[in-house]
Amino acid sequence: MDKILENLNPEQLAAVTLPAQSALILAGAGSGKTRVLTTRIAWLLKTGQASTAGIMAVTFTNKAAREMMLRLSMLFPVNTRNLWVGTFHGLCNRLLRLHYRDAALPQSFNILDVQDQLSTIKRLLKTNNVDDEKYPPRNLMYFINGAKERGLRASDVDGQDDYERRMVELYGMYEEQCQREGVVDFAELLLRSCELLERNQTLREHYQERFRHILVDEFQDTNDLQYKWLKLLAGDRTAVFAVGDDDQSIYAFRGANVGNMLSFQHDFQVNNLIRLERNYRSYGNILDAANTLIAHNTHRLGKNLHTDAGDGEPIRVCESPSDLNEVQWILDEVGHLIHDGIPRSEIAVLYRSNAQSRVIEHGLFSAGIPYRVYGGLRFFERAEIKHAIAYLQLIDNPDNNAAFLRVVNFPARGIGARTIESLQEMSRLHDVSLYAAIPYISGKGGTALASFVRIIQGIRSEVKNMDLPALIQTVLDKSGLLMYYQKEKDGTDRVENLGQLVSAATQFLSEEGFLLDAPALVVEQAHAQQTVDNPLLTVDRVIEADVPLTMIMSPLAAFLTHASLEAGENQADEGQDALQLMTVHSAKGLEFDAVFITGLEEGLFPHENSVKENGGLEEERRLMYVAITRARKRLYLSYAQTRMLHGHMRYNISSRFLSELPEENLKWLAPRKQSVYSGIRKEPVAQFGQPAVSDKPFSGSFGKSSEWQIGQAVIHKKFGEGVIVSLEGERANIRARINFGRFGMKLLDLGIAKLERV
Ligand code: ATP
Ligand code: MG
Repeated sequence: MDKILENLNPEQLAAVTLPAQSALILAGAGSGKTRVLTTRIAWLLKTGQASTAGIMAVTFTNKAAREMMLRLSMLFPVNTRNLWVGTFHGLCNRLLRLHYRDAALPQSFNILDVQDQLSTIKRLLKTNNVDDEKYPPRNLMYFINGAKERGLRASDVDGQDDYERRMVELYGMYEEQCQREGVVDFAELLLRSCELLERNQTLREHYQERFRHILVDEFQDTNDLQYKWLKLLAGDRTAVFAVGDDDQSIYAFRGANVGNMLSFQHDFQVNNLIRLERNYRSYGNILDAANTLIAHNTHRLGKNLHTDAGDGEPIRVCESPSDLNEVQWILDEVGHLIHDGIPRSEIAVLYRSNAQSRVIEHGLFSAGIPYRVYGGLRFFERAEIKHAIAYLQLIDNPDNNAAFLRVVNFPARGIGARTIESLQEMSRLHDVSLYAAIPYISGKGGTALASFVRIIQGIRSEVKNMDLPALIQTVLDKSGLLMYYQKEKDGTDRVENLGQLVSAATQFLSEEGFLLDAPALVVEQAHAQQTVDNPLLTVDRVIEADVPLTMIMSPLAAFLTHASLEAGENQADEGQDALQLMTVHSAKGLEFDAVFITGLEEGLFPHENSVKENGGLEEERRLMYVAITRARKRLYLSYAQTRMLHGHMRYNISSRFLSELPEENLKWLAPRKQSVYSGIRKEPVAQFGQPAVSDKPFSGSFGKSSEWQIGQAVIHKKFGEGVIVSLEGERANIRARINFGRFGMKLLDLGIAKLERV
């Protein structure tokens, strides 16, 4: 048997070697879906069934794309330069860069990340004197993105009432503003690509002919627009190979539609449905827990998973009095794991919401354990980095108004709000960008603006022949940013971060260099039938030529794209052996030897918002399923009776998910009596300085006959005075969590414990 195919089980082998027809691989976590997908690419290439140019693979993160390239090159020496492997956003970006003209975009369009998008919307509201309390920018952003994700332009949306009609109008104005400024948001990348392919038959047919194989990982999380995009790219002769797991669909809140799995079978005439039922990732205890949990969901396509790996260790469950004790417990257990020889990078601490990470980070930091946060504090979202990026964007494209406004008076150059207002006026009047409107401004403001132009022009001519890191260094120096932060009292971190930006560029060139000097296959277009009515129908033939991407995209533009697309996927120091911290969402598709799932509390996980929403609880359960199935060898579950979150103390009862797990796979650990770890809460006093009252105490499911109430002061014979912080159970079986001050939190059965009211 071919070496590539060794170590595949019969079902996997069948999937990898399927004939070139569309297929759906429906299989549970850890059953080898991603492995099958990668192996199939190698197989298609090696057997000459496809050329590198004929394959497109869609992954869920940029990191996954890189891993796929790496695995591929290990399986088979491929020349990855022609391969279109990436996320939906990344691939759309590539398409739009190649066909910017047909997509009616400026050559150096910039991408707005979520933060940029929000500030663009705020600016729109402000210039148009829209009441941002009546139309909160964030709501407008969700509205716009929601519409785009359904494939709708402002002109396609009918407002139901006056309010909505105004939203639609604002959406239209936002579209115009983005177009004027040459920027696209994330949803736009997809929508614009879809429109491009839809309207442009020549292009569409070209790609349909070219991509004989499209492979999609994590198919359950595609939204309607992504699905449409796939349909547009797939021609009659394209085989779409989709792998997914309905039990891991966790992005419904962003418009993902599991129904796409059913539509796919129908729309693509799928005759090949393959199920993989053997799990290669986790030990039996972990897998049993995952299977039992997910069986509580009703809407499932139905799958089984088994493993031959043996039971392994039981799942350790810890109840802690507080989030601080939870962290202490994690630190202790991490110590044991490291002692047992498990590398730090093979240990993941997962949480439901980002806000939980701070306390964990602080604990790890104090204990001197290196860690890395995925999707937490984002390097490219820090203010100083944003400023530097804005300068770089202006160097790349002076018409980028968002970038212009961010730095025109930063560091301060005496350009006041009034000057900016007149500039905006002029820009509207003459229908040019802010930068181009500068000559229309006279007086003091005009002089100050002219000096800004000199800085930008000066940098532009100076960096012409520089490589990217040198270019960035020059921008940092000449813009005055570096000097500004050097003078700032607490600017050391920021200066270091700016230095990191130069390193990031160096790293980018070495890691993503293939993107720049390689990918070739740039499409040469003959623009023949351009008309005013149909500006997009411009291609009448497409010739592929082996031209480096640098021909159409400068290294700077590529780096800026990378900065927007990659923001938040991971943090620096890739190389270091560090503990991995991330939300459950960002853990999708990954695996670790040991996994901690923290904060298993009602209201947190499942999240309180989900309980109210239709199907929300099932989505949370799938999220828990994803979390559990990340673990290979060891799984740790924990919850804290009290937790400080967003400045409020929460009093918690344990997550229902814990009670849905099979007892025989669990090992409950006695909670620690005293926290040895006490320094942690000192630092964030300002945030935490609230009295210990909950904003939303658990109200308990006890009957009216109950005489006990949350907040009630009681006296216990042994523990003295305390306050009831939560109640659980029914009538005769009520248990109360009581805070007894120096004796700590106790869980008492009120039928047994003799309590007196104060
Ligand atoms: P998820 O649903 O979490 O994305 P998946 O189905 O994509 O999981 P993979 O990540 O491809 O699963 O595989 C899980 C693990 O099992 C990987 O470490 C992979 O290398 C291993 N594996 C898969 N198939 C086999 C096999 N036939 N023999 C040995 N190991 C395998
Ligand atoms: Mg996978």
